[in-house]
Amino acid sequence: MPDSQRSPEGDSSALPRVLHTPRSHALLSESWAQAEEAKRKERAGDDLQLPHEAYAAGAPCRACGRALLGEPTLGTDEESLARIDADNAEFRAEHTACNMGVWRIENNRVEHCHLCCPFPPLSPTQRDELRQLLYPSSLRALHNRGCRSVSASLTG
Ligand SMILES: [Zn+2]
Ligand SMILES: [Zn+2]
Repeated sequence: MPDSQRSPEGDSSALPRVLHTPRSHALLSESWAQAEEAKRKERAGDDLQLPHEAYAAGAPCRACGRALLGEPTLGTDEESLARIDADNAEFRAEHTACNMGVWRIENNRVEHCHLCCPFPPLSPTQRDELRQLLYPSSLRALHNRGCRSVSASLTG
């Protein structure tokens, strides 16, 4: 019996294996929960803002639940457009008290409230462009980070 336990290196007194006991699982999930909680707190400020990936994938507005990318998800036939228009009228009526008007994304019909709905997220490229406009002094830092992420994607 002991012979069959022997490792290829021939050392029968190898270090004991680490077992995944229920206790260690509990600890693991506890720290996960803490990390999740910390992340939630960090994001609490802009909870309504969609991540750009979700927006690009056609996720609806988190504030009002209406489509952000409009027609592509709702249909472009006459009937669908009429439905969107009717929906917009209803939406405006619901938000007259906001008194801020509505916005919509270029080439899309679905309207969102200026007060209730956050603007759609910027793409990482747009964000960098904006940052360059706002903080030209950070140009070099931006450039450095760009190079790092390029090399990371090359090695990774
Ligand atoms: Zn909205
Ligand atoms: Zn509103």
